[in-house]
Amino acid sequence: MRTESFDAVVIGGGPAGSTAAAGVAGGGFPTLILEKRDRIGFPVRCAEAIGPASVARRHIEIRRDFVSAAVDGLRIVAPDKTTYDKSMPGAGYIVDRELFDRRLADIAVEKGAELRTGHQATGLIRKDGRVAGVRVRDLARGEEYEALARVVVGADGVESLSPRWASLKGVCSPGEILSCAQELVEGIDVSGRFVEFHLGRRLAPGGYAWVFPKGPRSANVGLGINPLESGGMPAVAFLERFLGERCPGAVRRRLVVGGSTVAKRLRSLATDGYVAVGEAANQNNPLTGGGILESIAASQMAASVVRGALEKGDTSAKSLCRYTKEWDRIYGRTFDRFHRAAGLIYGLPDPVMNRLLENLGREKGLAGRTGIDPARILGVLLRTSPSLFLKTFRAAF
Ligand SMILES: Cc1cc2nc3c(=O)[nH]c(=O)nc-3n(C[C@H](O)[C@H](O)[C@H](O)COP(=O)(O)OP(=O)(O)OC[C@H]3O[C@@H](n4cnc5c(N)ncnc54)[C@H](O)[C@@H]3O)c2cc1C
Repeated sequence: MRTESFDAVVIGGGPAGSTAAAGVAGGGFPTLILEKRDRIGFPVRCAEAIGPASVARRHIEIRRDFVSAAVDGLRIVAPDKTTYDKSMPGAGYIVDRELFDRRLADIAVEKGAELRTGHQATGLIRKDGRVAGVRVRDLARGEEYEALARVVVGADGVESLSPRWASLKGVCSPGEILSCAQELVEGIDVSGRFVEFHLGRRLAPGGYAWVFPKGPRSANVGLGINPLESGGMPAVAFLERFLGERCPGAVRRRLVVGGSTVAKRLRSLATDGYVAVGEAANQNNPLTGGGILESIAASQMAASVVRGALEKGDTSAKSLCRYTKEWDRIYGRTFDRFHRAAGLIYGLPDPVMNRLLENLGREKGLAGRTGIDPARILGVLLRTSPSLFLKTFRAAF
């Protein structure tokens, strides 16, 4: 079997993989990206929202060619249609995810990484007990080969196997992955540049529905549900009902179905010769399921640690675990809070959710320029229904 050697092999050409590859290759280390799909960023399985804008700009250069629309505020809609509006100029962007992903991959290639689309990782190679490369299948030619590496970066997203191969992660339970369905629709009345979140157990049990405007009359309209709480009804059936209620008669352009990981954070993100980044590493925000910016931020952090490890010639777990420590330090507690908040908020019975939204409307200073602090929402929930808050809070721990 053919064997090739690199300093780093990155599995997955999504935002996490391309960002990690750009960071490592930028240090002059030969880096290979393996992407099993033929086309980067396609098909799109995303509602395409990133934000806050200030955080986005810290991690990537925002270019007009991949921005579909700016987001200037937030609307939350309760089951009884009680609405909470918050203007937040600079809240974020709706991007064109295919162009966005392609731009990130281009940057990685400009930095020196080699990108191979249509090449699937089929397993990890181990030598002396440590990860030493990737077994690869060239899907077009039907050929197998080995890509040896001093470090393998697992950035294989929601369908990832590499963190399991590396023994960092078990199998996700169905409740840890929101089941999502979305239509890109045209001919819809949108709330200006506000993103809409629709809550309620009838509408989206264990999750929420969204309307993210991409233009004056077009939007990504979708939802994510917890499949364990949906009584066997699939996400597309919930979507059908939501579309009928929110935008009857709108023209449907593109159906998207997929999963979004909302699991607890991993205890460790690195082992000897391997790190996991992005959704593969449970780095989606567990409250929203969003993970584009989170993946990019984590991958930049991981790339910096990997570069240091390659420079020192020490890619052991001990050396790479600096990335776990750094990620835990900056994001760990926030992610834990988001995870607990999700368990509480999405579990609320619809009448309590209605009252919560009413009370939120009365709350001053709930949201700053960049978002809503879940701790403040939980504070309002505590006042709305102390007994339910305590019951669900206990259940969530
Ligand atoms: C319906 C839906 C809506 C969403 N909306 C939003 C949103 O509005 N905002 C937001 O921030 N997030 C959103 N997300 C989540 C977001 O899409 C992910 O967090 C993000 O894509 C994670 O980036 P990633 O690079 O880790 O993984 P991905 O983007 O999934 O990239 C992983 C890549 O690895 C490749 N791959 C997998 N296995 C292999 C293999 N064995 N060999 C080679 N390649 C492999 C895949 O083909 C894929 O290209 C949404 C998700 C869904 C499903």
